[in-house]
Amino acid sequence: MRIVAQEPVKHDELSNASSLQYEMTLAYSRTLGSASPFFEGLAGGVLRTTRCTRCSRTFFPPRRLCPDDHLETTWYELPGSGTVRVATRVYGAAPFGGFEAPYTLGIIALDGVDGAITHRILGDGVPEAGTRVAATFIGDEQMHPLLRVAFEVRSAL
Ligand SMILES: [Zn+2]
Repeated sequence: MRIVAQEPVKHDELSNASSLQYEMTLAYSRTLGSASPFFEGLAGGVLRTTRCTRCSRTFFPPRRLCPDDHLETTWYELPGSGTVRVATRVYGAAPFGGFEAPYTLGIIALDGVDGAITHRILGDGVPEAGTRVAATFIGDEQMHPLLRVAFEVRSAL
């Protein structure tokens, strides 16, 4: 806990009272369990995900078990590139924090995996459908690992 300020309360009925303002930090320790390879990859600037060993179905975010075959999946690395399906500019605050509005969100079909994800695209514009993007890792180690991943437009991909 860190004391930020102590000052008189500005209220007619509380003339002798003061307020104490402080900041608190809560430390969490949480096991990442079977998702550990995913987060280890993020720390190293690599997107990793999983594939079913029987049907070859792929998942992003990674899944430990294939929902069709109920088998353990195996890990592999993605190239980190993808294609924008649709994007929009967001003017409200991000509900999970980490960066300021406005920002751009896009649905991105990642290369090497089935389906698509919704994630942040850097820059002030709104890329058109079909725009190629690449994952980039920004920020510092104090940020949540998922917020450190963003995509940027790459014309040569
Ligand atoms: Zn399967």
